[in-house]
Amino acid sequence: KESRAMKFQRQHMDPDSYPSNNPNYCNQMMRRREMTKGSCKPVNTFIHEPIVDVQAVCLQGNVTCKNGQPNCHRSSSSMNITDCRLTSGSKYPNCVYRTSQKERHIIVACEGNPYVPVHFDASV
Ligand code: 5GP
Repeated sequence: KESRAMKFQRQHMDPDSYPSNNPNYCNQMMRRREMTKGSCKPVNTFIHEPIVDVQAVCLQGNVTCKNGQPNCHRSSSSMNITDCRLTSGSKYPNCVYRTSQKERHIIVACEGNPYVPVHFDASV
């Protein structure tokens, strides 16, 4: 079974593609990473940084998650990310996304031993 840490990597990690301005990036990646099965996931962020740098965020500034849990962490550096957002007219199974490149601090929830990212909470 896919662990929560593996699911985070599938949904959010794309270290090898440099943030491109390909307007189809989100349409392709949301499907390839299986976030358009059963429904279109409305908002999802991909992180274009080495996995070790993203795992290290679990040791950085502790913040409260949006759901009130205490185990979120804000990256001390800004990171290259791509924000994928479902367009308003998009209807399942045709999931159509807007792709936007950003440089932001990321906030992730971490769990377990080793203490690793399991949820993407926000970018700020
Ligand atoms: P909206 O901007 O539509 O009100 O809310 C979208 C929220 O989802 C934003 O606060 C954004 O930070 C957050 N968000 C961005 N990417 C992801 C993601 O991959 N997963 C989750 N759960 N939230 C995300």
